[in-house]
Amino acid sequence: MSKTITVLIAIIILSLSVYLNFVVHGALIKYNVEQLLTEVNEPNEQWIVMEVTAYCPCEQCCGQYADGVTASGYRIQAGDRFVAGPPWLPYLTVLDIPGYGLAPVLDRGGMIKGFKIDVYFDTHEEALNWGIRYLKVRIN
Ligand SMILES: [Zn+2]
Repeated sequence: MSKTITVLIAIIILSLSVYLNFVVHGALIKYNVEQLLTEVNEPNEQWIVMEVTAYCPCEQCCGQYADGVTASGYRIQAGDRFVAGPPWLPYLTVLDIPGYGLAPVLDRGGMIKGFKIDVYFDTHEEALNWGIRYLKVRIN
């Protein structure tokens, strides 16, 4: 009987630590994003032409990953502006995208390779309206 209780307590502690880790991780990312956006003052000369497509959190755009949390662990909030980038662009890199503005890399896409990024919109309609654009993007 006491063994069962020990196992139960272990399970509870384990799930609590997983949950807390997620909460802290999410909060940390949110803090860093705000900090990064305020630190972007001087434009540098790192420009790169990219294929810029758009997506929203719907099932059509995200499939099984349509859970409101990005690959970096960031929980999406209404009005957010961020980018799904290729693996060579680290999370929290801030991009300056003409027509979209300053946005950090907070997500990854399975099909995203090379010089391709996806900008995030709240609605599928906005994502469709964006279409596919070839833009000079500034990397900060
Ligand atoms: Zn969509």
